[in-house]
Amino acid sequence: MILVKAKYLIQNPEKCIENGAVVIEGTKILRVGTFDEIEALAGIDKVIDLGNAVILPGLVNIHAHLDLTHLHNCIKPTNNFTHWVFQLLGARIRWKEADYTASIEKGMRLCVEAGTTTVADIANTGYSFLVLKKSPLRKIVYKEIIDLNPDHANDVITKIQSELSVYESDGLLRVGLSPHAPYSVSKELYQAVVQYASRTGMPVCTHIAETPDEIEFLTHGTGNIPAFLRQLRAMPVQWQPPGLTPIQYLKGTGMLDNRPLLIHCNYITDEEISLIKSSGASVAFCPRSHRFFGHTNHPVRKLLDAGINVGLGTDSLASNDTLSILDEMKFLFLHYAISPKNLLAMATLNGAKALGLESKVGQIKEGFEADLCGIRLPDAYPKDV
Ligand SMILES: [Zn+2]
Repeated sequence: MILVKAKYLIQNPEKCIENGAVVIEGTKILRVGTFDEIEALAGIDKVIDLGNAVILPGLVNIHAHLDLTHLHNCIKPTNNFTHWVFQLLGARIRWKEADYTASIEKGMRLCVEAGTTTVADIANTGYSFLVLKKSPLRKIVYKEIIDLNPDHANDVITKIQSELSVYESDGLLRVGLSPHAPYSVSKELYQAVVQYASRTGMPVCTHIAETPDEIEFLTHGTGNIPAFLRQLRAMPVQWQPPGLTPIQYLKGTGMLDNRPLLIHCNYITDEEISLIKSSGASVAFCPRSHRFFGHTNHPVRKLLDAGINVGLGTDSLASNDTLSILDEMKFLFLHYAISPKNLLAMATLNGAKALGLESKVGQIKEGFEADLCGIRLPDAYPKDV
């Protein structure tokens, strides 16, 4: 058994223990309390004293694209999303297996260094499963699914089932499904994914309500997205706009029945907030990526006030500067005036809940997994603080 102690230990947003300690047996938390209370526990083999530091539940990053890590500083900030996608496609046009692997490995390292112990990653290729399988991170790796042609839906699902059959979940890895977005996945394919997920119990996530372009595309079938899809030869000739807002559209596919993780939700109406709330879905908010694209203020406060579970994601280094959830918390504190308690909840408990892991991680609790992070405190504070 190992005992880890520090000046402070924060069990959850409601409880901070001064001179706190945690005893770990195997992968689990056996005891938590003050050092004085638990130092005499029989069977402790090793004591790790972090000193002037705080021990926190490991941070949970609920939206990342680790395979894009090597694109840091390669993509110019833009509020034209389709322009960003073209830059991204161009930047990795010559990538081979070694490039993807190195990019994912670097992303994993950056997550661990930033105190993240659980990550929800989007797998654009199979390399993400192979590389992340070897990492000590707890993770859900969601297979990204893209095809707007309704005639392809059955073939796409058959192919994905065969591809995913070789990637087995284990104690740290869970395989999930990510139909990309309403402008890149047909309604028929969303419905097929829902059936597949219901049959297998796989978690699902999707990018939704991300840009005004997406709303224009779904409601009127006009704007930047159809032009973008035609350039990629990905616009089916028979496609008709459903005339719905993004969350209304998602409801019609059955996705909301699977308690999905909804990525972004940048532009949503009050009616859509009610739909999300009644579905029990969670929302992934990526604050600094949101700023990168120059979006208007995110409705995070409205979502929280409505009782919706909102966690934090970093998105990728193609639209962010670090993969640190702590940096997202600092940004939100400064720009959205969210309280430290709420920020800590979003980065731990809420993230765990969004990934269906709330009975295992997200707080330092006896019987939970020993997913922890330690943050060194400054030795001295400036006089005016
Ligand atoms: Zn994303």
